[in-house]
Amino acid sequence: MIGLISATAAGAAARDRLAAAWPDRTRVYDGPVADAVRTAFAECDRLVCFLATGAVVRLVAPLLHGKTDDPGVVCVDEAGRFAVSLLGGHGGGANELAREVGEVLGAEPVVTTATDAVGLPGLDTLGLPVEGDVAAVSRALLDGEAVALRAEVTWPLPPLPVAAEGAYTVRVTDRLVEPGDGEAVLRPPTLVVGVGASKGAPVEEVLGLVGDALREAGLSAASVAELATVDAKAGEPGLVEAARRLGVPLVTHPAGELARVEVPNPSDAPLAAVGTPSVAEAAALVGGGELLVPKRKSAGYPAMATCAVVRRPGRGRLAVVGLGPGARDLLTPRARDELRRASVLVGLDQYVDQIRDLLRPGTRVLESGLGAEEERARTAVEEARRGQAVALIGSGDAGVYAMASPALAEASDDIDVVGVPGVTAALAAGALLGAPLGHDHVSISLSDLHTPWEVIERRVRAAAEADLVVTFYNPRSRGRDWQLPKALAVLAGHRAPATPVGVVRNASRADESVRLTTLAALDPATVDMMTVVTVGNTATRDIAGRMVTPRGYRWQEETR
Ligand code: SAH
Repeated sequence: MIGLISATAAGAAARDRLAAAWPDRTRVYDGPVADAVRTAFAECDRLVCFLATGAVVRLVAPLLHGKTDDPGVVCVDEAGRFAVSLLGGHGGGANELAREVGEVLGAEPVVTTATDAVGLPGLDTLGLPVEGDVAAVSRALLDGEAVALRAEVTWPLPPLPVAAEGAYTVRVTDRLVEPGDGEAVLRPPTLVVGVGASKGAPVEEVLGLVGDALREAGLSAASVAELATVDAKAGEPGLVEAARRLGVPLVTHPAGELARVEVPNPSDAPLAAVGTPSVAEAAALVGGGELLVPKRKSAGYPAMATCAVVRRPGRGRLAVVGLGPGARDLLTPRARDELRRASVLVGLDQYVDQIRDLLRPGTRVLESGLGAEEERARTAVEEARRGQAVALIGSGDAGVYAMASPALAEASDDIDVVGVPGVTAALAAGALLGAPLGHDHVSISLSDLHTPWEVIERRVRAAAEADLVVTFYNPRSRGRDWQLPKALAVLAGHRAPATPVGVVRNASRADESVRLTTLAALDPATVDMMTVVTVGNTATRDIAGRMVTPRGYRWQEETR
C-alpha cells in the first residue's frame, strides 16, 4: 500500500490525481500532517508526501528503523515539478516509485543513489528493438547488479555498466535466439536484404521468400535495416508493400552501380531486363559486408522474386556536439542527449570539465590540451570507425572555427555523422548586447595561425565596403596584438567614429562582462581570447545602452 499525505491545496490536488490513477494501491492519510506521516509510516510500505523534503525529514527521523524495514519515501514539491526519492531508494522501492509518480504527474523523478542518479539508459530507450527479459535486465542495470554484455555484432552502443560475468546478460545479435532467463536481446539493424522482382510480383511471394531466407539462415527479421533493389524497381508494388510491412525503407541503386558489384551468382535474365547481371546480391552487397544468404528464388512458378541477405559492416557513430558558450542552460537538450548517448567522448580538457557531470558512468573520456586539434579529430574518427558511439565536443557551435571541419575532413562514409548545433559566441554576445545582428552580418576570425593575414584583411575590407555588421572571433592574444587595431582601422575607413562596438568577454560564464563602446573609443588592450568584438554597421545605434541594428534601411530613414 502507498500512503499519500499532503498539506496544501496544490498538494491535495496532486495527491488526488495520484489516488485516482492508482485507486487500489493508494490510501489517503488526512488530518494533521505529523500524525498522518506517523500512521502511514507504520501502515504502508511506501509513502508519497506532497511536502517539502525538510518537513518530511524532520517528521520521519524519529521513526527510522533500518534500511531493510523502513518504507520508501517520495516527496513531491508544491509545484509538482519533482518527485524526489528521499528514503529507501532501492530496498524501499522509492526510486521506482519516484519514476512512476513522475510519469503520472508529469514531474521529473529525482534519484540520488549512485546508479540511478546518472540516468542509465533503459534498454528500451536505445532506439533498437529489444526482446527477452527486458524488465529484469533493466532493473539489474539500475540496481547496479552485474550485467554481462555479449556483443556478437559491432554496434555503437551507449555506455552500459556491464561486467565480464553476471546473472544478467545483454546480448547484441541479429541471429534468431531464444532469450534465456535474465537475458535481454538487442537487435541492431545490421541486415540488408537485396530483392529482385518481376513485374507484378505479389507482396506475399516477396515476404514469403524473405521470411524463409532469414529463418533458414537463423537470422532475425527485427535486425533488417532495409530492402535494397535496382532503381528500375523503385515503384514495384510488391516490393514497396513488402518494405512497408517489414517497417524498413526500400533503398534503390542505379543499374550501372549494381553491375560493378562482384557477386557469386550473376545471370543473364536481369542483365537483359534492367541492365545488371545481379539485382538481389548486388543490391545487398553494394555497401560492403558479408553475404549470409546467396541469391535464392521464391517458391512461385514461375518464380517472381529473388533475395539475398548481407550483414553490413558495423558502422560507428560520430556526434559533433556544440556545448554553447558556457552556461548549462544554453546547452541544448539534444546536445545533452548526445553526450549521454556516447560511449567515447573526445574534446579539449576545459570543455570536458564543463560537462563531465552529464556523462554516464563507463564513458571513456579522451581529453587533450590546447592545440592537438588534428589529433583530436583523428582520434574521434578512428574510434567511430571501430564501431563506437563517439561524441566530439566543442564550445559554442562545434562547426564554427572548431572541430567539425577537421573531423569530417578525416571521415569517410563508413561512419554515421550527427551534428548538434550550439549557441555560438556571436549569438551569445549579440543577445547580451541587444540586437546588433538585426541585419546582414559576418563573423571573421582574426587568428592568422592557419590563415595568412592578407586573406583576413581582404575579408575585413570586403565586409567594411559591404556595410556588414562584423563579429571578430579570436580577436587578440598575448602573441597577436596588432591584428585587431588593424582590422578596426579598416572598418573605420567606412564607418563613423561613433559606430557602436560591443565587447563581450566570457559570455554566459561566471566572469561575464559586456561593454558598449565606439570604434573611436575602443581600447584593444581590454580585449583578449575570451572575447568577441561586434562592430555595428552604419545604421547601428546605441539605444538606451543597447546595441541595435535596424532590420531595414527604411526604418533607419524614418528614425533619422
Ligand atoms: N566554436 C566556438 C568558437 C571557437 S573560436 C563558438 O562557436 O563560439 C574561439 C573564440 O570564440 C574565442 O577566441 C572568442 O573570440 C570566442 N568565444 C568563444 N566562447 C566565447 C564566450 N563564451 N564569450 C566570448 N567569446 C567567446
